[in-house]
Amino acid sequence: HFEGEKVDDDLVSAVARIMAHADGARRLRVRANADTPEDAARARRFGAQGIGLCRTEHMFLGDRRELVETLIVAENEDDQRVALDALLPLQRQDFTEIFEAMDGLPVTIRLIDPPLHEFLPDLTELSVKVALAEERGEPDEHDLVLLRHVRRLHEQNPMLGLRGVRLGIQIPGLFQMQARAILEAAADRAALGMRPLPEIMIPLVASVRELEIVKADILAVAAEVERSRGVTLEYSVGTMIELPRAAFLADRIAAEAEFFSFGTNDLTQMAWGFSRDDVEAAFFSRYFEHGIFDVSPFESLDTRGVGGMVEMGTRKGREVRPDLKVGVCGEHGGDPRSIHFFDEVGLNYVSCSPFRVPVARLEAGRSVLKRR
Ligand code: PEP
Ligand code: MG
Repeated sequence: HFEGEKVDDDLVSAVARIMAHADGARRLRVRANADTPEDAARARRFGAQGIGLCRTEHMFLGDRRELVETLIVAENEDDQRVALDALLPLQRQDFTEIFEAMDGLPVTIRLIDPPLHEFLPDLTELSVKVALAEERGEPDEHDLVLLRHVRRLHEQNPMLGLRGVRLGIQIPGLFQMQARAILEAAADRAALGMRPLPEIMIPLVASVRELEIVKADILAVAAEVERSRGVTLEYSVGTMIELPRAAFLADRIAAEAEFFSFGTNDLTQMAWGFSRDDVEAAFFSRYFEHGIFDVSPFESLDTRGVGGMVEMGTRKGREVRPDLKVGVCGEHGGDPRSIHFFDEVGLNYVSCSPFRVPVARLEAGRSVLKRR
């Protein structure tokens, strides 16, 4: 796996023996975070046992950004329908390629979780553009309408705002379009003799009702795809647990969710009150040096705070659904010390960047071996 480099054969076989030893010992499964077929294939080469997080918002950037912008600001259902109809075949192709790369392994696909500011034009830039056009006596109707919407939707803290399931519920048809693309791609691959295993995941859930609403839509789409394609699909519907409230309500949420995946990036932000995008956490480096905080939260898991929510959420979830599959897909999923913690509290898998998969396999093995 040293792509393109020449490496000593003895070293390769020593590493292979160590990996085999760790794989033989470990209980925890290791998946990868991947949202392109290239990353999925790389993850598989590194020994990932599935995709634990396919972030779909990345699939809407570039050429497709305009379609999402149309969806967000559309003033009527017809405009929204046109954008959704254009996105469906593109998304179907995205998922087809990922299912092909991961044939026979589970693929957790997270429905779009876009902070709005990534898809809308910058408020200041657009205001200046509109003002200049007006000054020239050449007002642009499209920009004027857009500016009205950008003002209406502007958020000071987009990462705490209209994201995830909240946006999915605000924009009718968006999550259904994605569910249809996932399930049609899966049905078509199954018809060719492959075994796609989609796990559809709902982001930023804070209440059971959100999950009920979206799940009902997904099940309706699935029933329709199964009927029209004449197949039975192997799929499940679950949720991210990435808000403290969701961790506290994990028992109720587990009644609706077939699996949980802890999003420790958002959980850390919410639990510590540090923005994951701004710089303030860096100012606290002296805190860690002087032991005022005992952990650097975005680097290594705060086992009593964020980890406490992971442990509690898992326990409460399994009280209601004993076979609940539980994973973690935040950055801590690839952090060695955090992996030991996740093993100890009984998670089923960790998911991390493809390049961290081998280390995660080793640490999952060490976590078991150190207790023998
Ligand atoms: C998380 O919050 O930990 C997570 C995996 O989701 P994202 O980083 O995409 O918000
Ligand atoms: Mg998140």
